[in-house]
Amino acid sequence: MGGSRLDPWVDSYASRAKAMRASEIRALFAVASRPEVVSLAGGMPYVQALPVEMMADTARRVLYERGSQALQYGSGQGDVTLREQILDVIGEVGVIAHPDDIVVTTGSQMALDLVTRVFCDPGDVVLVEAPSYVGALGVFRAYECDVIHVAMDAEGLVPSALSDAITATRAVGKKVKLIYTIPSFHNPAGVTQGPARRAEILAIAQSAGIAILEDDPYGLLGFEGEPPRAIRADDSDGVIYLGSFSKTIASGLRVGWAVAPHGVREKLVLANESAVLCPSNYTQLTISEYLATQPWREQIKTFQEVYRERRDALLESLQAMMPEGTTWTIPAGGFYSWLTLPHGLDATAMLPRAVANLVAYVPGTGFYVDGQGRQNMRLSYCYPEPDRIREGVRRLAAVIESELEVVQTFGTTHAPPDYTGSSVPSPHLE
Ligand code: PMP
Repeated sequence: MGGSRLDPWVDSYASRAKAMRASEIRALFAVASRPEVVSLAGGMPYVQALPVEMMADTARRVLYERGSQALQYGSGQGDVTLREQILDVIGEVGVIAHPDDIVVTTGSQMALDLVTRVFCDPGDVVLVEAPSYVGALGVFRAYECDVIHVAMDAEGLVPSALSDAITATRAVGKKVKLIYTIPSFHNPAGVTQGPARRAEILAIAQSAGIAILEDDPYGLLGFEGEPPRAIRADDSDGVIYLGSFSKTIASGLRVGWAVAPHGVREKLVLANESAVLCPSNYTQLTISEYLATQPWREQIKTFQEVYRERRDALLESLQAMMPEGTTWTIPAGGFYSWLTLPHGLDATAMLPRAVANLVAYVPGTGFYVDGQGRQNMRLSYCYPEPDRIREGVRRLAAVIESELEVVQTFGTTHAPPDYTGSSVPSPHLE
């Protein structure tokens, strides 16, 4: 038998399994989850802001009053009452749809998987932002897509770069199947596309005949004004819109959804059935009961306030403590800011020293498939209390200062470990 001593089955795996790799930095994150470390790494929602008693009552009512439905298999498309309620939620970002247009999924992560399964053959191109969401990159790699990054600026995906990428890809005879974008409160870049930018991107996709995969788990978590209007609100045929209750209710319930044009939706239901038969009836009914009986819009406001306070703590302390030459994005919502280190510093190489100094972040390389991002890191402010965030930034600033001294003395930091192209962090960091 071939393979290795550690895994005798390695020669039996499908080629797609080769693209499924854990990060070399995973071991470091085991250390980083120790309580003395301030983790600015994880993207975990602060579920403690949700009253647990109320959630327990909701779940109990579902079991007592509709137990025979909640504990049974359900529809592959998802519970019809929940699909109707999802219309109210997506109405907040201007999406008007019919319950038939919605497919409930096991988190929006599952929707990413199903859409890719339906659209992409190995070698098909998916255009993604530079940087992009780790969990989506993992899906695209698992389906052996050719992932190409497209430049972003302070307003997200750059339209001219998108057009150029489409032209260049087609010129070498490849098919672009999807444009994957996170227009609102981007993970990890922390930026948001304005209305004009969205219109430009939509026009480019329409004229090229390429579907947009719009991923919007953070759209209702803005810190000022109305939630940004979804791209899908202006095109029901060309955009597949993904939403989730993970950040507005509870990520542990694993309920998300796709809004898709008719034909795509039929395929997604079949793909959902073959993957999981049906999404969990119990958690769908729990969400449905919560939406029907609780002031969910008020709860979203509570989440917004919690995250705004933490965003402010992050930005104020970055401003006060970071050495010159360090820059970062200013998120108007969501969970993340994207930091760029001074020239010559390497976020991947620096991570062990940061963890030794009791602060953790995700190095930028994890958000690219092509080794970019060495000078960057993602900072999450969603989970730690504001004081811990300030302490984390203080520790991080000290590490960057001492790296800068090394660079100024020796012209370089220590040789960076080579994580290129395989640095997909573990899922809990998403
Ligand atoms: N898309 C993005 C951009 C995300 O950040 C996440 C989770 N961090 C997801 C999708 C998946 O979320 P879920 O499966 O919990 O809905």
